[in-house]
Amino acid sequence: MKLVMIMDKRRCYGCNGCTVACKQANATPPGTFYTKTLTEEHGKFPNSKIGYMPLICNHCDDAPCVEVCPTKASKKLADGTVQVTASECIGCKQCMEACPYDARFFNSEDAPTYWGMKGQDAYEKLRSGEHVSGTVDKCTFCAPRREKGLPPACVETCPAIARIFGDLDDPKSEVSKIFRQYKPKPYRPEEGTKPSVFYIE
Ligand code: SF4
Ligand code: SF4
Ligand code: SF4
Repeated sequence: MKLVMIMDKRRCYGCNGCTVACKQANATPPGTFYTKTLTEEHGKFPNSKIGYMPLICNHCDDAPCVEVCPTKASKKLADGTVQVTASECIGCKQCMEACPYDARFFNSEDAPTYWGMKGQDAYEKLRSGEHVSGTVDKCTFCAPRREKGLPPACVETCPAIARIFGDLDDPKSEVSKIFRQYKPKPYRPEEGTKPSVFYIE
């Protein structure tokens, strides 16, 4: 199995629905964004155009974050995803430095809350345990949702159907058909990490 995501940049219109869906699905702390969408300007004014660039962890095949991890808390799994086992992470942040895509986040021991001095609200209290203080985490390709047979939250939410997710090893999957038709490319392939996220320009 090789799970991949294709971002169709022709369809993305920068609504950041994915960003919100990801934060809700994963209850990430303030300042942590497993996905975000950058605004780009193409061409020269007055003939320039606005475009959008959705970013997430690339679940790289040659992942430097996995290579540098001294405890093997960061792993490449058989399904093609890169995951962090929180109980094995010592919070050394070497993976954060090694990632060329800035895709990892540290769960601060003094975790900020959305309500500042008022402390955690009921929702934060309920879900903050999903992010262990003093460890690093990142996009999991929505592992908890996939375990329930659900697609990644960002994929399900995207109103433009700009994110396509599935198994590239299955020639009949939607993602394989789109891959064959459009030959999408990874972001910054010169980093040499062999991403599992691809872009249609
Ligand atoms: Fe690791 Fe960064 Fe690649 Fe994600 S994008 S697998 S965090 S090197
Ligand atoms: Fe591994 Fe955790 Fe250190 Fe990252 S912070 S390299 S996951 S032990
Ligand atoms: Fe967030 Fe899940 Fe999308 Fe990753 S796959 S960016 S964890 S919603």
